[in-house]
Amino acid sequence: MITLSKIAKVFNTKDGEVKAVDNIDLTIDKGEIFGVIGYSGAGKSTLIRLLNMLEAPTSGTVEVAGKSMHTLSRQKLRAARQEIGMIFQHFNLLWSRTVAENIAFPLEIKGVSKTEQKERVNELIKLVGLEGRGGSYPSQLSGGQKQRVGIARALANNPQVLLCDEATSALDPKTTDSILDLLVDINKKLGLTIVLITHEMHVIRKICHRVAVMESGKIVEQGDVLDIFRRPKQEMTKEFVKQVTEPEETEEALKHLLDKEGIGHVLQLTFVGGDTQRPLITDIVRKFDVNISILQGKISQTQHGSYGSLFISLSGEEKLITDVVDYIKSQQVEVEVIH
Ligand code: ADP
Repeated sequence: MITLSKIAKVFNTKDGEVKAVDNIDLTIDKGEIFGVIGYSGAGKSTLIRLLNMLEAPTSGTVEVAGKSMHTLSRQKLRAARQEIGMIFQHFNLLWSRTVAENIAFPLEIKGVSKTEQKERVNELIKLVGLEGRGGSYPSQLSGGQKQRVGIARALANNPQVLLCDEATSALDPKTTDSILDLLVDINKKLGLTIVLITHEMHVIRKICHRVAVMESGKIVEQGDVLDIFRRPKQEMTKEFVKQVTEPEETEEALKHLLDKEGIGHVLQLTFVGGDTQRPLITDIVRKFDVNISILQGKISQTQHGSYGSLFISLSGEEKLITDVVDYIKSQQVEVEVIH
């Protein structure tokens, strides 16, 4: 479905040339869910934007759904792009339009009749589980619902490929899971090829068949997700594998804390980079004058910061808990009150 040959993208900046994508060869099969993981600046966004020619390659070739994207005229490119849907971290919805109008937007541009638009929008609303919300505005929706609108809009033209640019990075863990479930469902139902970029290994583990690990514009390792988890070869890959807390551990932690007497609230903190883990807990204790027990978790310290999950418990009034949660969020750490 997708073949990249010797693809490179060089940006000329005032500080010199930046090789965002450096001579990559990659093949993605029809119906595959393919993940690309890497830290910030690795070149993931540029790579995915080369697939629909939002970036033109400096050299190399891009074939998607049987078309040589890099050779197409502007008009032909517009048609070819209809085979490629895209969803974004911050949804990119039109705020002045309703859910139904957002989803209909690509059909409107294509000149599809109003009746056909309506029919298709209804189908899509059902597919993404937004029944009854067609008349709502994006501001009235939760993050997960907004991404559902993004997905429906991306599927409006019945594409063969769906590109997901950090599509769950702005969502809490539970919502992330439900969006990932929806992507798997769509992949199965429609046979859609999905390419997603992320910095989160649990996203890769949950839904991808294969994964490529990117560093400095290059793919340093790629393979079946299970193989990569069992036998990561490169240091970079090992760091990403370490990010993921084993599910058994999570369950064990939950059982442990629910059994424990007099437990207050339990928060799950998910670190996705940044070097905040140790200072964060100390900061909370000092700032809010609370006792915190660290119940369970697995945090890996990498040169790029802390990654992984941590369960902590603390007691106090609702207001205190809300303040602590807000503070944690302000430190770019994901947090969920689970008890
Ligand atoms: P990632 O998505 O993995 O964070 P990007 O593809 O956004 O990585 O960026 C890869 C490199 O290319 C970075 O060094 C970034 O600063 C640079 N880059 C990306 N887009 C541009 C641009 N439009 N102009 C100049 N440099 C860019």
